[in-house]
Amino acid sequence: MKQNQCQILIVGAGISGLPIARQSVSQGIKDILILEKDYTLGLHSSGRNSGVLHAGMYYTPETLKAKFCVQGNRLMKKFCREKGLTLNETGKVILAGSPSEVESLYELKRRADLCGACTSLINRKKLLEIEPHAAAGTEALFSPDTAVIKPIEVIRALEAELVQSSKVTISYGTVFQGLSGDNQAQTSSGVIRFEKFINTAGSYADQVANRFGLGREYKILPFKGTYKKLTANRTSLVRGNIYPVPNLRTPFLGIHLTRTADDEILVGPTAIPAFGRENYHTFEGWGLETIAILLRDSVLMLRNPTFRQVAMTEPKKYLKWFVLKEAKKLVPELRLNDLTETEHAGIRPQLIHWPTKKLVMDYVVLQSHNSLHVLNPVSPAFTSSMAFAEDVVGRFLG
Ligand SMILES: Cc1cc2nc3c(=O)[nH]c(=O)nc-3n(C[C@H](O)[C@H](O)[C@H](O)COP(=O)(O)OP(=O)(O)OC[C@H]3O[C@@H](n4cnc5c(N)ncnc54)[C@H](O)[C@@H]3O)c2cc1C
Repeated sequence: MKQNQCQILIVGAGISGLPIARQSVSQGIKDILILEKDYTLGLHSSGRNSGVLHAGMYYTPETLKAKFCVQGNRLMKKFCREKGLTLNETGKVILAGSPSEVESLYELKRRADLCGACTSLINRKKLLEIEPHAAAGTEALFSPDTAVIKPIEVIRALEAELVQSSKVTISYGTVFQGLSGDNQAQTSSGVIRFEKFINTAGSYADQVANRFGLGREYKILPFKGTYKKLTANRTSLVRGNIYPVPNLRTPFLGIHLTRTADDEILVGPTAIPAFGRENYHTFEGWGLETIAILLRDSVLMLRNPTFRQVAMTEPKKYLKWFVLKEAKKLVPELRLNDLTETEHAGIRPQLIHWPTKKLVMDYVVLQSHNSLHVLNPVSPAFTSSMAFAEDVVGRFLG
């Protein structure tokens, strides 16, 4: 394959792009080039998430999230087993405290049934058998299919398989900059001609789509997910995954407790409005766009009550005390000293539909005659990635 020419050009070697390349190879395509602006894979969402394979109970059945999550969970587990990667099938419980949360719990059960996700409503006795330290209300929802993987292991295994196939080239440190003509991409390494173009640029997918004249009605607002973790002597308080009932009007799942593949207990993530697409730590990732992001935040503060609520409550969770307050709703025995800081943080590139000022709750897939753009690849996009790739390759590449 010549480096300045390919059949399929993919921008972004994260968990959205790599499985699309893999699926393309399995369909007999021999000439795929992936551009990746970094020299190492997994530096963004794909390597900075909770590592949970979700099981598909949060989404309404007409959504793409619902369509791909259940099957994606199965395919990702199969991949992990075949490659000998870490896969902890720990399951998860969702707890309801107040009567309104119990209503939402029933709604989750209804959605799970419609989407073909295996869940069961369990009583207090059964809950305490699964998670002996969980806050026991009258009912909880149990998902046996939720599992935990090591995201970086998955990324590395995909990278190795693709490179070994000799049908895929990953061009590291190469930035897609725009179009220089019909079917010609301008990159930091020169012009590349392509037959089909796939945009899986994660946090930058909106900018790439804009170069094709697509998606101008959307704007990105980055939300930072930070985590605390439990001290080593308290990890026995959580066996698997303990989640609250989320606010179903937002795309976020609320502070939860996750036993990672390294047997640490993560407490998080938050959903704090961030100052940049790569604002992982305090002043990292600030730039000119920070001003535009702050303006968007201000407009949404005025126009979107759900965003206002998130923006008013989430930043408090930088403080241990507020995280503890949420975590105690799940495990009442937790104390302030049980929480410790971690560097682990990720950014959710949340899409806003600007004419309506609404947070977009699903994937947005935009297409032109020669290009396909994956916008809003937020959770559970890691889980869904392989099922999503099957669909994209089937529909777009035929
Ligand atoms: C805090 C947090 C927790 C999460 N937890 C879960 C979870 O438990 N389970 C789950 O299923 N999902 C989870 N998610 C969601 C999941 O991690 C993301 O949906 C997924 O990783 C998105 O992958 P991606 O490949 O689209 O984007 P990315 O991982 O961001 O990859 C995009 C790639 O494109 C590259 N790129 C960007 N612009 C250019 C350019 N112009 N030229 C060349 N390369 C470019 C970037 O460098 C990057 O490597 C979580 C996300 C966050 C932030």
